[in-house]
Amino acid sequence: MSNRTIQVDDRLYDYILSVSLREHDVLRRLRAETSELGALFQMQISPEQGQLMFLLARLVGARQTLEVGVFTGYSALSVALALPEDGCVVACDVSEEWTSIGRRYWAEAGVAHKIDLRLAPAIETLDALIAEGRKGSFDFAFIDADKVNYANYFERALVLLRQGGLIAIDNTLWSGRVADASVNDDDTVAIRKFNESLHHDDRFSLSLLPIGDGLTLAMKR
Ligand code: CA
Repeated sequence: MSNRTIQVDDRLYDYILSVSLREHDVLRRLRAETSELGALFQMQISPEQGQLMFLLARLVGARQTLEVGVFTGYSALSVALALPEDGCVVACDVSEEWTSIGRRYWAEAGVAHKIDLRLAPAIETLDALIAEGRKGSFDFAFIDADKVNYANYFERALVLLRQGGLIAIDNTLWSGRVADASVNDDDTVAIRKFNESLHHDDRFSLSLLPIGDGLTLAMKR
């Protein structure tokens, strides 16, 4: 036993899934189809992380949510399943190709009416929402897109969130590269700077969870 976060090897990971994963059948099939995309499959969040997002959305009583970076729609579907019938995920992405896969599964799961897909650069969509007067009206946001823009997405999401709303940011441990000073590619440097910028920012409460590839949670004060 230790007061540090436990190391999760394959055997323990399989155990975690075996005793706790509750994956909706449509999510399971979406994951299976996405796995056929080969290396791109790593862009999809893990199933236990999807389940956490469902729970987080329920915890904050989410009705209006944002997603930046949709890929094949697994996380949007996880959150949409947690929303009430009149809830909405404003989902931002630039890829018609990948999001079209998600659309089929959203429809199959009966939540397509809860997902408002905006195919445009996310900064434009978020700025438009701010201009429309949607400041302070969202309950939850998930950021999982191009890493060099994380700070831009985060600042806009913070404006759009209500007090007590939650932002979840994916890949903040970046396969551990953030802690390796010898790695200095654009993505790693951007995430490292982003993590550092959040550390002492008192506009939100903060936690960095070592789940998946690292998930940072920031609750707006
Ligand atoms: Ca990700």
